[in-house]
Amino acid sequence: MAQSPFEYAPAPESREIARLRPSYQIFVAGKFRDGRGEAVKTINPADESPLAEIAEAGPADVSDAVTAARRAFKSWSRLPGRERGKYLFRIARAIQERSRELAVLESLDNGKPIRESRDVDIPLAAAHFFYYAGWADKLQYAGFGPAPRPIGVAGQIIPWNFPLLMAAWKIAPALACGNTVVLKPAETTPLTALVLAEIIAEADLPPGVVNVLAGGPAIGHAIVESEGIDKIAFTGSTEVGKIIQRSVAASGKRVTLELGGKAANIVFDDAPIDQAVEGIVNGIFFNQGQVCCAGSRLLVQESVADEVVAALQRRLATLRVGDPLDKNTDVGAINSAAQLARIRELADAGVDEGATRWSPPCDLPDRGYWFAPTVFTDVAPAHRIAREEIFGPVLSVLTFRTPDEAVEKANNTPYGLSAGVWTEKGSRILSLAGRLRAGVVWGNTFNRFDPASPFGGYKESGFGREGGRHGLAAYLESEGFLGD
Ligand code: NAD
Repeated sequence: MAQSPFEYAPAPESREIARLRPSYQIFVAGKFRDGRGEAVKTINPADESPLAEIAEAGPADVSDAVTAARRAFKSWSRLPGRERGKYLFRIARAIQERSRELAVLESLDNGKPIRESRDVDIPLAAAHFFYYAGWADKLQYAGFGPAPRPIGVAGQIIPWNFPLLMAAWKIAPALACGNTVVLKPAETTPLTALVLAEIIAEADLPPGVVNVLAGGPAIGHAIVESEGIDKIAFTGSTEVGKIIQRSVAASGKRVTLELGGKAANIVFDDAPIDQAVEGIVNGIFFNQGQVCCAGSRLLVQESVADEVVAALQRRLATLRVGDPLDKNTDVGAINSAAQLARIRELADAGVDEGATRWSPPCDLPDRGYWFAPTVFTDVAPAHRIAREEIFGPVLSVLTFRTPDEAVEKANNTPYGLSAGVWTEKGSRILSLAGRLRAGVVWGNTFNRFDPASPFGGYKESGFGREGGRHGLAAYLESEGFLGD
């Protein structure tokens, strides 16, 4: 594509590494079997070719999985923490050993560049298991009282944007605390969760401790409604999060919700512009912008707005959009036709409402789901592209004059998941971090993750934290959190 000063020869990773099989099965009570739902094909969003057939779960599989998880809870929850930790360490190491295979499989099923699945998704998934393995025998020192107890069976429902990583975020803390799990990956990206089930089986976890049910919203709903479930952990859209919260109200089930976002990435006039531009690019074009905490609203101080936008446009002209398996690719495919339609609709609304649309010249492949990196300027806070989560490679640029105005505009959203601040002044970062209503505030960086650092939202971005010591709270009955 674009006018790069360098010509890159294609450097594709071989799809053989993914060890794709013609079909995949669900994992219930320690065994793989065909689900009693529909057999569906999962496709490669980069070219719409079928990858494999999945025998999805039906409602009867949900009750089998919940029964197996309840039975397994009795012994798993009584196992000494150090024994549970050994299993988690084993899973972490097996993810590392199979990391290349998992990375290629993730890129095939999701459309994300291999550079990201190889360097971010898979290493972070392993890191989460390592991190929570370390907590398993130290829970009494975690600040939840002297004898914190697990909750029971956790129903875990995850989205398609970071399939293996989201599975790790959910399963690792649940198991470390002594819970058992029924996990449902998203319908468009089931493959890596099902391979994780293989890893879990090979790690010799007792049957029923982890069950993985491929399926769509109806299976998610059946998990939420199941009487044998004690806790729901959901990551996905705010819309479905609200449905789930309504259906568990008065059921006594515990719930944590990790939902959507519309993060502000705030650039002050004293920020190092080139560095900030890298952060803006990483903030919104990482994973094609299909990131809940994406920096989708750029708030730039008026005095440097033209300079920042010009530098950003120059940088975007060097991004390589295309084959997710090519190691040179920066921006891959959109995950599904439905998601692509939503991105197109919102981008069109941006033009209709009067914003100015810009994309670098780029040749998109003929087949598959593709959307060029896009920047909107002349955006007003009332525009849909400034308010609604687009979940795609689309940046809306707004300006501000004073720090107070930046905070006001950043907080002017129903969401509250993340924010970024770019400035030379450390004191300004700290002051803004306290005033921004966002679960995570990055200073002079963006989209950085670490298993030791809690992640989660305010307002319509949900509640509960994943990661870090705080992430244990979601999976423990306790007399209350004693520290922070
Ligand atoms: P989605 O809400 O449509 O689906 C998420 C999951 O919920 C899928 O597994 C789906 O099958 C299931 N589901 C759908 N309807 C259900 C129902 N009625 N009951 C139970 N389960 C149901 O979201 P999506 O389109 O897959 O993912 C994109 C959304 O996820 C974005 O809004 C994004 O911001 C959010 N997200 C949030 C975080 C976070 O940590 N806050 C992380 C990643 C994605």
